[in-house]
Amino acid sequence: MICCGCGCYFAQRGAWQKVCGPCYGRQKREEMGQLERENGELYAELRRLTRENEQLRRGGLDAQFVRQLLQLAHPDKHSGSELSQRVRARVLTMRE
Ligand SMILES: [Zn+2]
Repeated sequence: MICCGCGCYFAQRGAWQKVCGPCYGRQKREEMGQLERENGELYAELRRLTRENEQLRRGGLDAQFVRQLLQLAHPDKHSGSELSQRVRARVLTMRE
């Protein structure tokens, strides 16, 4: 059988085999390299999206400002109003 990759003759193990052993190994190494590059790109994108998600969840607010909001919206300062409880609960989710 003539290898589709390099054109050399090789002993075919079955009709499914179209390339010689060295060409098969080279193809698999290229595929593995491509998968590793894609994996690296996906991890980088995942890290970027995780950071972006954390920023969005906090509404772009820094930790000190969130603490100030919690002090201002504390239910004790608003006679336990439902509004102050709702605002406090939402601001608490920004702190996590
Ligand atoms: Zn070959």
